[in-house]
Amino acid sequence: MNLHVLTLPGDGIGVEVTRQAVRVLETVCRKFHHSLRLTEGLLGGVAIHQTGEPFPEQTARLALEADATLMGAVGAPEFDDWPPEKRPERGLLAIRKVLGVYANLRPVRAYKALLDSSPLKNDRVEGADLIIVRELNGGIYYGTPRGISGSGDEERGLNTMTYTRAEIARVARVGFHLARQRRKKLASVDKSNVLETSQLWRRVVNEVAAEFPDVTLEHILVDNCAMQLILNPRRFDVLVMENMFGDILSDEGAVLAGSIGMLPSASLGEKKPSGVWVGLYEPVHGSAPDIAGQDKANPLGAIGSVAAMLEYSFGLTQEAAAVNAAIEAVLDAGLVTADLKPKGTPLTCSQVGEAVCDRIQS
Ligand code: NAD
Repeated sequence: MNLHVLTLPGDGIGVEVTRQAVRVLETVCRKFHHSLRLTEGLLGGVAIHQTGEPFPEQTARLALEADATLMGAVGAPEFDDWPPEKRPERGLLAIRKVLGVYANLRPVRAYKALLDSSPLKNDRVEGADLIIVRELNGGIYYGTPRGISGSGDEERGLNTMTYTRAEIARVARVGFHLARQRRKKLASVDKSNVLETSQLWRRVVNEVAAEFPDVTLEHILVDNCAMQLILNPRRFDVLVMENMFGDILSDEGAVLAGSIGMLPSASLGEKKPSGVWVGLYEPVHGSAPDIAGQDKANPLGAIGSVAAMLEYSFGLTQEAAAVNAAIEAVLDAGLVTADLKPKGTPLTCSQVGEAVCDRIQS
């Protein structure tokens, strides 16, 4: 297969973890005899320095040309006081829009070797393996009218939560498709006891369910879901939810996985006629200015994002499984960075990348 991948390392540790993720991708392509064409683009603070824009036109063009995009992270303290529309983070929203990705997937696994890194009791977390699918383009973050008006006691902030049937149906289908490839259980999260948007959400998800009779659907209220993710995460397989609920609940995943550096993510758009998705892949963490430039960052979230890319954008499930198995093997061997608090000397970001490549090759 020919894989054309755009990399956008971005800022801070984004550069370091992306370097290791690319090494892993190259190793997989060598081992499984795929040809890999890599292009690199500018995004975030580095793009502002070189072009004046967080998301230059050239990057948009490269992203549309590539089969899939692998991102690092963006952001740096020097931009903290800049207006939101000029900051590096604006580049993230822009690339999602250009690629039309509307479903954000955050797989969360409680690896056996990391159970002690989770602040939760081992018996609660052990065996947890779930994917949170968050709607990415709609809901209260984008709805209008919005704004702050009036003054004094009457000064008022306003946001609007809005969803169309089509927006709900397409993200629900992503959830059902994923569940079908896994343990065939989908939990749809809403607040239908209070919100009309959630009532429509539930109705449309029920309609879409008719296309997937092999998947068991449950509806769960968002407040109960927040509790169940901590009390009994094993009960979940795939969860689908609107934008803000997903933003909040998916951070609970970091607690289950032991470190934010472990978490990969995939943002998917339309399914191509070949059956694979348009996708943007990135670790969940930010640019971590506190450890940037020290080769200390955990690259496993970025490497897990490569596994997600192989699976969803290229349909290469065997290759994705090889990457995931290699991640598990380095964890079992205790070959980890400082954030995972190893018993011995922590490895550097590059050493962990190398260890994953070694295990894929062997
Ligand atoms: P962060 O995720 O960068 O860091 C939070 C903490 O986790 C830090 O202590 C950091 O050292 C640690 N950490 C993060 N990733 C790690 C890894 N791979 N290995 C080891 N430790 C890791 O979040 P923050 O500090 O709130 O934000 C820093 C910058 O990143 C800000 O400019 C923010 O806007 C940006 N940000 C970008 C993204 C993105 O690019 N998708 C996401 C979140 C934050």
